[in-house]
Formats: sequence, structure tokens, C-alpha cells
Amino acid sequence: MIRVENLVKAFGDEPERALELIRQGVSSEDIRADTGLIVGVRDVSFELDEGEVFVIMGLSGSGKSTLLRCINRLIEPTAGEVYLRTKEGEIEVSSVSDAELRRLRRERMSMVFQRFGLLPHRRVVDNVAYGLEIQGVGVEKRRQRAEEVLEIVGLGGWGNAFPSELSGGMQQRVGLARALATEAEVMLMDEPFSALDPLIKVEMQNELLRIQNELRRTILFITHDLDEALRIGTRIALMEAGEIVQLGTPEDIIVNPRTEYVADFVKHADPTGVMTARTIALPVPGRRFSESERDGEVRFYTREGYRNVAYGVDGDHKFREVRLDGKALPTKPLDEALAEELPDIRHGDVLLQARPDHTLRDVLQGRTYSVLPVVVVAEDGELLGVISENELIHGLLYKRANEESTSDEKVQEGAA
Ligand code: ADP
Ligand code: MG
Repeated sequence: MIRVENLVKAFGDEPERALELIRQGVSSEDIRADTGLIVGVRDVSFELDEGEVFVIMGLSGSGKSTLLRCINRLIEPTAGEVYLRTKEGEIEVSSVSDAELRRLRRERMSMVFQRFGLLPHRRVVDNVAYGLEIQGVGVEKRRQRAEEVLEIVGLGGWGNAFPSELSGGMQQRVGLARALATEAEVMLMDEPFSALDPLIKVEMQNELLRIQNELRRTILFITHDLDEALRIGTRIALMEAGEIVQLGTPEDIIVNPRTEYVADFVKHADPTGVMTARTIALPVPGRRFSESERDGEVRFYTREGYRNVAYGVDGDHKFREVRLDGKALPTKPLDEALAEELPDIRHGDVLLQARPDHTLRDVLQGRTYSVLPVVVVAEDGELLGVISENELIHGLLYKRANEESTSDEKVQEGAA
């Protein structure tokens, strides 16, 4: 959808002077000392897939806004290319004329700003319709479209208000609606929720995810808030000093932070909505399990230290049953347990069965229903593993189950 290749932005006189130095591997600090040039973005390449929420995350000053603005050329890059694939075909944004660029910004790439950027003297409906107005869409049609989009962002009936009559969260919904009103495939969002109160912020994140589920735009979203990145990102690129130091899924980043900088971020993150049952489950059989009995084609395995619980799989490694002290336990899908009222006393005789994509939070909640370990079973019936207290604790500490090396060791490897 968007492809960025070897993008560089240096600020200062004759910024091209930075290019050869970057090629030679001279640090941005040294470049600044030697030439006075500030390297905002340093040789960044990545690709955005259609329909994803790609998050660029990093500390203040790491180059996020510069990168985003180079993509729609609100800032001219010093070097590198940006390609945009739309229904009109692939366009090299970095080489189009100014007129074409303005058209692209209006029709194909919309932008949502941190400070809403609403026009104060226009009613909400005309703020939302603004993009369509400059595209030359007639008044009837654009107002109708604006009302539709206001409905989508939960502001039906507010069209005649002025921005100043709305709360911050509502104003940002208007900003969102304005970006959604055009048919733009790509939405560029620079810290759109950073100015909002924490609760409103979470509400807006949920709102964005809901809208995204419906409309499937491609979103490039900037934030300095890791929890926000983890909640909404399909993938996350972490920026440090103008470079992408790690790019991966939220879970990748939590489980395998590759540098000290990333690990520092991750230390303060909430992993419960990110870590999946697949990752934290301890595989059965595995080195902590031994075969305890056989019943026809079903082999049972018990875990060291917990010999009273036996997990049974058939010859194809499909999940068959779990026996507690030799007696088969009834199993219940985790989703069903999550939908029920909390029992007064946790069940000791029901086994919960999770899907691989259930989150750590789901499994934790399941533990308020039953004291027994949770089995993780794939769609085709394969037993992927079990989650008991140990695995929950590992998950909370961002670790994969049964890891030989700790994530601390990984960080050192990555940094070395
Ligand atoms: P972020 O959005 O991650 O906070 P920015 O992209 O705004 O970071 O800034 C990246 C770096 O580029 C910073 O060191 C900043 O000071 C510098 N920078 C940004 N804009 C300019 C400019 N117009 N002139 C000089 N330096 C700039
Ligand atoms: Mg910024």
C-alpha cells in the first residue's frame, strides 16, 4: 500500500552533505558536530500492507513526525522514495508534481492531527465535509456524506454544532470523521489521541478499532505510548534517533525486544492484552512432561510436580481428554466461561479449553472460573499446550513458556 525506501531527512543548509556520511556509517551526533545538520530520519525502509494499522512508536524527538510528513511531503525528503499503491495504480509520491501532490493529499491520503485542526467558524458538518468541498463535491452530496460519517464516529445529530461546543474527545471524533469522509485509502495519524484524557483516549482507541473493522482503511498511526501501540497496532515499528530499530507484531516486540531501548519501553507495558495463549502455553508433550499411561491410541502425559493431572492426545496429537486422579474431566470452551457470572468458589472439576488466539487476559479471567490448568487447542483439534500458574506468571513477565533463555539474555544478544 505504501512503500518507503531508504528515506533520509536532514535539516540544515545543503542537507545532501549528510547522505555520504550516513552511507559511511557516521553517527548522527557526529554528523551534527561536523556539519551542523540534524538528521531527523536516517535511512528508513518499510512497507505498509493494505488494511493494517501500522504504528510508528518512539520517544519524543525520535523522528516519527518527520517520517510521516516525508510520506505525504509536507516535508521534502532529502533522499529516498515513497510509493503509494491505490486503485489508480502505483504512484511514486516522491516525484509527482505539486499539483498532483495536492490532489493525492486530498483524495488518497488523509491526515489526522494531534490538535484536531478543525476550522472554528465552521459547523461540525462543514468541517467534516471540508475535504470533499475542496475536491469540488456539491453541497448536498457532501453534507449527506458528512452526516453519514458523523453517525459512524458516534456524533449523529451534532452536525450543526460548532467545534468549541464539543469536548476534546468529540472534537477528535470530528477530525476522524473528516479523514473518513473522503475515499482516501490511507490515513496518516500523528499522535491523534495524545491530547486526550486517559479514559477518553482508550474510548477513542476502541472507536478507531471498531471503525477500522468496518471500513478497512490503511492506517499509519504515530504514538509515543506503547500501550496504545500494542492495543491498536497490527505491526509496530520502533524508532530511535531517526532509525527503525525493531519492526514486528505487538507480541514479537514484547517477547523479543531486540535492543536496550525497546526493552526499556516494554518494561512498562501491559502484556495481558497482547500475549496470546499460543505463546505462553507449555507444549505437551515436552521436556517437562512424561508419558504416564496409554488407553488404546490415546497417550497420557503428566507434568513434573503435578502428576495427578494427565493430558491425553491421540496418534495425530489431537486433544482427547484430561484426567484428574484417573477420572476424565468435562471440558468447557473458555469463551463460555468468560460469558458466565463468576462462581462463588472456583470450580475444581471443569477444564477450560482456550483457542491459540485467546489473550493472556482471557486466560487470567478463566482462572477466576476454574482452578485447573487451561488447555490450548488449535482449530484442527491439535493440543498446543497447557497453561498453569507458571505460564501465567511467565506471560505477565513477557516470556514465552518453557524458554531456555530468558528475555534478558535475548536483549543482551540483540544489543551485542
Ligand atoms: P517526533 O515526532 O518523534 O517527536 P520529530 O520528527 O518531530 O520527532 O523530530 C525528529 C528530530 O528532527 C528532532 O531531533 C527534531 O529536533 C528535529 N527536527 C524536526 N523538525 C526540524 C526542523 N524543522 N529543523 C531542524 N530540526 C528539526
Ligand atoms: Mg511528533
